[in-house]
Formats: sequence, C-alpha cells, structure tokens
Amino acid sequence: MTTTGEERERGFDHTEIEPRWQRTWDEADVFRIDDDETDPEYVLAMFPYTSGSLHMGHVRNYTITDAYARFERMRGESVLHPMGWDSFGLPAENAAEERDTNPRDWTMQCIDSMRDQLTEMGFGYDWDRELATCEPEYYQWNQWLFKQLREEGLVERQAAELNWCPSCETVLADEQVEGEDELCWRCDTPIEAREMDQWFFTITDYAEELLESLDDLDGWPNNVREMQRNWIGKQEGASVAFEVGDYGEVDIFTTRLDTIHGATFFSLAPGHPVAQEIAQQNDEVSEYIEMAEQADEDDLDVTSGVFTGEYAINPATGEEIPVYVADYVLTDVGTGALYAVPAHDERDHEFAEAHDIDIVQVVEPTDDADADPEAIDVQEAAYPEDGVLVNSGEFDGLESAEARDRFVEAFDGEHRTEYNLRDWGISRQRYWGTPIPMIHCDDCGYVEVPDEDLPVELPEFVHTTGNPLDAADEWKHVDCPDCGADAVRETDTMDTFVDSSWYFLRYTSPEMEEAPFDAERASDWMPVDQYVGGIEHAVMHLLYARFFTKVLDDLDMVDGVREPFTNLTNQGMVLGEDGNKMSKSLGNGVSPQRIIEEYGADTARLFIMEAAQPEKEFAWSPEGVQSAHSFLQNVYTLVSAYAEGEAGTAADTGNGADIADYVAREIDATAANATAEFEELRFNHALQAVRELVSLLRRYQEATTPDADTFERGLATAAKLLAPVAPHAAEEMWAELGHDDLIAEAEWPAAEAPADYGMERQLVENTREDIRDIVDTVGIEDPQTITLAVAPEWKHRVLNLARNADGNVVGTVMQDEELREQGEAAADFAKELAGRAQSLDEQLPPEREQAALERAAWLVEREFGADVVVQGPEEADPDLVGKAGPGRPAIDIAE
Ligand SMILES: [Zn+2]
Ligand SMILES: [Zn+2]
Repeated sequence: MTTTGEERERGFDHTEIEPRWQRTWDEADVFRIDDDETDPEYVLAMFPYTSGSLHMGHVRNYTITDAYARFERMRGESVLHPMGWDSFGLPAENAAEERDTNPRDWTMQCIDSMRDQLTEMGFGYDWDRELATCEPEYYQWNQWLFKQLREEGLVERQAAELNWCPSCETVLADEQVEGEDELCWRCDTPIEAREMDQWFFTITDYAEELLESLDDLDGWPNNVREMQRNWIGKQEGASVAFEVGDYGEVDIFTTRLDTIHGATFFSLAPGHPVAQEIAQQNDEVSEYIEMAEQADEDDLDVTSGVFTGEYAINPATGEEIPVYVADYVLTDVGTGALYAVPAHDERDHEFAEAHDIDIVQVVEPTDDADADPEAIDVQEAAYPEDGVLVNSGEFDGLESAEARDRFVEAFDGEHRTEYNLRDWGISRQRYWGTPIPMIHCDDCGYVEVPDEDLPVELPEFVHTTGNPLDAADEWKHVDCPDCGADAVRETDTMDTFVDSSWYFLRYTSPEMEEAPFDAERASDWMPVDQYVGGIEHAVMHLLYARFFTKVLDDLDMVDGVREPFTNLTNQGMVLGEDGNKMSKSLGNGVSPQRIIEEYGADTARLFIMEAAQPEKEFAWSPEGVQSAHSFLQNVYTLVSAYAEGEAGTAADTGNGADIADYVAREIDATAANATAEFEELRFNHALQAVRELVSLLRRYQEATTPDADTFERGLATAAKLLAPVAPHAAEEMWAELGHDDLIAEAEWPAAEAPADYGMERQLVENTREDIRDIVDTVGIEDPQTITLAVAPEWKHRVLNLARNADGNVVGTVMQDEELREQGEAAADFAKELAGRAQSLDEQLPPEREQAALERAAWLVEREFGADVVVQGPEEADPDLVGKAGPGRPAIDIAE
C-alpha cells in the first residue's frame, strides 16, 4: 500500500484506535444485558469448537451476528449477544497426547487465545454470560438432564455397532479409524465391528412433531428444512405377517403392498430374532451372521445373503417362497424383515439375479403413463413405478394406490408409519466429554448417580492406549448407591452434541446453581431470534437442539417454547483467492490475525460483509480488502476535514438551497434503504447505499460550500450506518464530529424515505440518461446550456386518465371537457399513451417534477460542464414544451 505523508497524517491508525475503542466499550458495559430485561432481541452465532484459532469462516459468522446485534442495539432494542465454547471433544485429547499435556490445560489455553482474537475483531459480547461446556458448572447439567430424560422414559440401552481394535482391546471413535483400510490410529491394526450396548436418547418418540413443525419454521432456509425432512424420512405403508417355517408369524413393513403377489423371496436382517433362531440350527446361516456382524455397515453388498432352507407363506397367494438372511436388510429399519419383489424393486432385482430367484411382474404402466407396457422387461430391470396390477388374481386391473389400500384389509395387515430417523446414540468411548451419571452394580444393574453426588467430575487425564476413564481405577470403583456393594462407574462419556443441544438456554442464566437455567427468564428470552452458523449443522445439531427444546417444554422447564431458533441463517464459505476452499495443502488460506495486523479488524469485517450476502460463498480478494480499507480511510478523512472547518460552514442560499435540499432527501432515503437491508441481513446492499451517500457528500463539497447542518447530518448518518460493520472507525468518526457518547449506543438514523422519493429518483436518472443519449447521438462536444422543460398540466391529466382507462384510452380522454380544449394535441398524446397503457407509471405532478429537476440540476451541471435551466410549461418555448411528457422533460442542448 502506498500512502502519502499527508494521507497518513489525515487517516486513522487502526493499531491505535481499535484496542482503544474495545477497552472503551468494555468499560462502558455496552454489550452487557441485565437479567431483568424483558424479551430482548436474542442474536446468536453457533459457538466455536475450541481449536485455538479463529479462521475466516468464524470471522464471517461472527461478523454477521455482531453487525446485526449492533444494528438492533442502536435501534433501541435490548440485545442478548453472548459467546461461549464448545470445548469437549476428541481433538483436545489428541493435542494433549502430542504435546504431553492434558486436555483441560490445552483447552483452557485455546479458550484464552480465542477470546483475545474475538475481542481484537471488535465483536461485542456480554462476556459475563460466557460458558464453556468442559466446566463442571456446565456439564453437571448434562448429567442432570440425562437423568430427567431417563425419568421421562427417553433414555434406553440399545445395541450399537462400534469400532473395535483387537490389539489395543478398545473401542475407537470414528475419527480414530484411519484410511480406507480402516486401521487403528495407534497401532495400525485393522479394526473390527463389534456390537455393544450403548446409551440412547429416544428422539424417535418425537419424530412426528420434529417433522410436522418444520412447516412452521418460516424463518429457516428451505434447504435446511428439506434436509431435516429427509433425515427424519417418514414413510407411510403397511405391515403384514408372513408365516415363516415353524417359527411363527413374522411382520414385514412395506410401502408397496400393491406388489405383494410378486413376492418371490423373503429376507431377514442378520440381527432379526428369527434369523438368530435359525442360526442355532444352521451352521451356514450362523457363519453368515457372524461375518455380516463384523463387516462395516458402509460396505453393504446388496447381493450378499444366504438361503436358510426355510420357506415363508405369502398371504396373498398362499405360495411358499424361500427365506434368506441378507445384510442389505437393516435390523433397525422397519421390522428387519421384508418380502422381496424383484420385478419392482431395484435392490431385490439385483439380489434375485445373483441368487437365481424368479422374477414375476405384477404391475404394468397405466394407459396414460409415458412408458410403453410392451417395452418393459422386468427380467432385465425392475419397474419401480406405480401402475396397474397384473398377475394378481382377482385384483388384476386395480391401480397401485387403490390396491395398497384394499390389501391392508384383504391380507390382515395394518396401516403403519415408519421413519428413517434412528434413536440418538450418545455413548462415546473417550475421555474429554461429560461422564454419563450411571453406576453399574452386579446386583442392582444400572443405578443413577444421586443428585447430591453430581457432578460426576472427570478424573485426572491418564495417558493410555484405551479409554482413559477405564484406566482411572480409583475414580471408576465406587459403592453402589442402592445396595452399597462394589460397583463400577459408566466409563463412556456423552456425545458432545448433548452439550450444544441446550447451551443457548444456559446463556439466559449462566451462574444459576440450582438448575440448568432459570425457567422463567428462559421462557421470556427464548427463542433465539437470529441464529447464524454453518450448513454442516443442518441435521445433527439443529435437530438435536429442536428435540431438547421440545423435551424441556414437556418437562415444564421452558413455558411453551417448542422451537429454539426463530430465524436461521447459514453463512456461505469464504474461499481462497483461487476460488478453492481454503486449505493448508493448497496454501490459499488467509489468516484473520494477519489481516487484523495489516489492515485492522474493521477492514476485514467490511470487506467480508461487502463481498456477498451472508448465504453466498465468495473468494478472498486482496483488491476487495484494499478497497474496504481505502473507503474507511476516505470517509474518516472527509469527516475530520469537516470537523477542522475546512469544508465551510456557511448556510447557502439560492442554488445552494436546492442542492442542500437534494442532499437532505438522499440522506433520508439512504437511511431508509440501509435500514430495510440490515433488517433482511443484506449487509452488502446496505453498505453499497452508504458508499453512494459518501460519494454524494464528496461531490456536494466539490460543487459548492455545503450547508453545514445538512453536510454534518450526512456524515453522521454515514458513520451510523457503518457502525454495525466497521465499529471502531465509526466511533472515531463520531468522536471527530464532536460527540461525547458512543456511536455503539447512539440512536439509529430516522429511517423514512422522503415522499415520492422513488418517482423522483427515476425521473432524475431517466433525464440524465436522455441527456447522455442526445450528447452522444448528436455528437455535442461542449454543451453550454441544457434546458429542461416540464410537460404541461393537461398531459399529466391525460396520463392519469390513460392509466385508469379500461381499454378505450382515446375515447376516455376525449370525453374530458378540459382536454377537448387542447384539441388535436390531446388526441395525439392519448394515442401515443394508448399503445403502452399497461406499462404507464405514475409520475410526479408538474410543479413537483420541476422542483425535483431543480434540486438535481447541479448533478447535471457537474456531469456535462454546462449551465442547466429548468423551465415550467408556461415560461418555456412552446415548441420545446410540446415534446415534453410527464416524467420525461423536453431537453434542449445549446453548444
Ligand atoms: Zn490398536
Ligand atoms: Zn447395588
């Protein structure tokens, strides 16, 4: 960057002003909110994982919430804008291993450093409400809530498949399994799958409500709602029982009961109780099940399966069909059993081909379908669409939908709804998380840790190959709370998504010692009004937080709050300069720290907010950064020059009054426009409006001696509109303008566009465009005088009649007595308008049109270097006036 000595002297030094204003805000408690505030605006960013350093994605995320929070605060709202730390998780354990420290010390160090970085960015948080999920003061409530959920019947032990290292004899987290070969991260032994009992929250109990209430979340992006709908995956179908060998009836679930006559085999999941029973008699089945249990769920082979030697009776046909155990049938989906129709299901088709099973068509396209029935060969490929039944006995000719309905009764089935959503397994075999408050006693089974013994605090970190909690012998062995016998603590910790499922409630009363949060305050302050974070949380975090909120309402802990986040924004990615995702390997990352040092936090914030709307991704651009930087310096220079009296202070008269009038209207319009854009989080549009205002003020100063009040109001408005995004520079400008208070607490500029502003702006733009056209077309080198003549009153009258005439414009016009006096001219003008009667805009009346042009004349004078004369219809040359229309003044240019 090249700066002349004078500019440097004039501009501000971000290294000096930014820390100074940060201290001032802090001392003035600008961002603190009192507990007794009523229903504040709750603005929240998803809290960061404590990696130790902020990246550009964080900077963007937090700039959005900070700018919005500051905007709302200046509008007089009380604002809750807290910050905390998602500080449990495996990376801290890894870091502790690498650095020969422990997860706690490492995490606390990361928090300190990230807090400093957030402060340096100028983000205004109520630090009194800071929380860290790894503190016992926080995670004791995870434990307490676990017990509450258990009391509600929402906690279960269920079997789940885990990664097992046979050499380390320990369970591994997914992140501890490395590479395509799936090797243990410590010893490189290939991992095995092992089924073990785990703790689950039965979120499926809330599946229907979680799905249905998505429809009412109007403030959420549609794609996120759709992702949640798909994740919940509601399927309406039916269940029917098949008699399987000597094993009795087995229920199946299907959404395609219409195809039941085409069932040619029957499949059981390896975990299905009947499959397990068969395995006891059948070695082949038993071997297959063992193999399937050890395989990873991800490499399901659609054709893998084994014939059991058993047959099932199809209730529709009475025929026997072979029974297979196949691992493409998932134990936990539907009933874990299904009848297979290879003619109409692609997966069944593949399996049938591999095992040489019959394929029988029972549905063909309807007459009005695009497909030609003759062209369909189900031996070649499945036909999965609905259609008309064939080979279905007395039901031939029925349409699929009707058949599905009739068959439920015909075959003794029942209507049934299934969901893809699974229960939420929360057990993690790792150290750095919330200990699950359970104790296992040989006699009593699982016993809860009594409330008075909470929190169950983590013991000292143990360096071990396995789970450190398992190795913490002293911690692990306790007396059974029920019978006093020797017992063992649960050594699994909770999924860290439990921590983030309710942290937004804790911010309302972070010091609360008797409960996770103050129910009354939380009920008043919730839901979060504006929640901002990454799209990667569309399903897990956002679904779990919704689940928790509903449960807490059912526990009477939040009164009637059933959704946690009213409005949700997912910020887009900040890409590297090359348009790729920022990454170490590409070397295209930009460090926030470096940008702050070189240009200041305001520049980084302004650049990011100007680059794109929050949801859109954009590429880092050094030119954009430079432009943001110069803009701030330029506005500041304009302000300080004015403050030093260089801009002149005399209130002008004559022509000057018109200009001041024009500028005043633009100031009001800018404030109104920017306010509307801020409300919708379209910061880039708001900032564009500010840039235009500043450019106008500069031209104003160049054109004449500005009216002091108007000019100062313009500068103050620009500073205020910049304050949410570039808060330090804005404070500096505010102080230069002589204010003792903080702009962060100043009043947002009154935001009402002047009457008819839109029409006036259009008029001025069109007129300037017309002048440019004439100058270009005629080739005028040096215009001396530009005369603008406004159309007479009667043409406005014609326009208004034409706009409201239904069809017969000329007739309507000529019925008007006053207009008839204009004779031929009125008829001609009416004909001209009749051609485009549909697209006639309302225009300013003649005297207002004249005034608007007089106000804007200075801009035309500056652009063309010519004198501008604005004339009313009476004073102008009749020939010229004859060419004028409403909103389109006649133009004469003299060289
Ligand atoms: Zn290992
Ligand atoms: Zn016991």
